[in-house]
Amino acid sequence: MASSPKKQKAERAASGSAKVVETNTCADGLQSPPYSFEGNASVSSITLALSKGRIFEETLPLLAAAGITPTDNPETSRKLIIGTNRPDVQLVIVRATDTPTYVQYGAADLGIAGKDVLLEHGGAGLYQPLDLKIARCRMCVAIRKGFDYERASRPGGRIRVATKYINTAKAHFAAKGVHVDLIKLYGSMELAPLVGLADAIVDLVSTGGTLRANNLEAVEDIMPISSRLIVNQASLKLKPELIQPVLDAFAGAVK
Ligand code: ATP
Ligand code: MG
Repeated sequence: MASSPKKQKAERAASGSAKVVETNTCADGLQSPPYSFEGNASVSSITLALSKGRIFEETLPLLAAAGITPTDNPETSRKLIIGTNRPDVQLVIVRATDTPTYVQYGAADLGIAGKDVLLEHGGAGLYQPLDLKIARCRMCVAIRKGFDYERASRPGGRIRVATKYINTAKAHFAAKGVHVDLIKLYGSMELAPLVGLADAIVDLVSTGGTLRANNLEAVEDIMPISSRLIVNQASLKLKPELIQPVLDAFAGAVK
């Protein structure tokens, strides 16, 4: 089928020959949008970025509602690119914290990422059209039992906090007027207060089982967390006929 001139221009822009229109370099040396859109150049197919584990599992019913069935299970397969029953839809399996990055740069058109991850990423280049209400938990402050959190977290107080959620923790303690020394960790935050690395942690809590098992307790609720559908802004303009039906099917299947 012949494409319209407007679409042909968009296709040329996506075919890899596009130049970077403009590059903004942030203070930290990272590029900020707009980018050239050359990652996932095909305009006749879409790529969805997912992480293994709970996000993949909880996304399966949403995919089913959109008529999409993966041909492999990422838990048992080592494949990082997974096909589906639809020749025009593929999945890429990425680390949860990397999902917004793949979508931001157009390497994936769509993705599913936790609000926790999106707050740290900042959301540049992404639309976040839908709260999928999956992978639900809470962002909390937790301490070792017996630590006087009330005293440490008074306005003007000072506290040492270990977390992988630096932006969220910074904003939370700033709003309370508490000075915070942040220590970036990548996992097992629960250990930090037990071995004197930090007074408190900012982490995700669902049942509280891990906290209890480690003699910790949640002392403050920061916000509820769930996963959102994210969409590359250029992809939505370029291939609405492929992306919009997926958005609509997901929206209809959200519980
Ligand atoms: P890893 O556990 O391999 O270090 P990760 O923590 O980045 O990686 P997951 O544990 O799969 O990845 O979490 C993915 C997303 O699921 C998180 O970004 C968050 O939004 C949500 N999540 C994390 N922990 C829980 C939980 N206990 N209950 C519900 N949702 C959670
Ligand atoms: Mg985890």
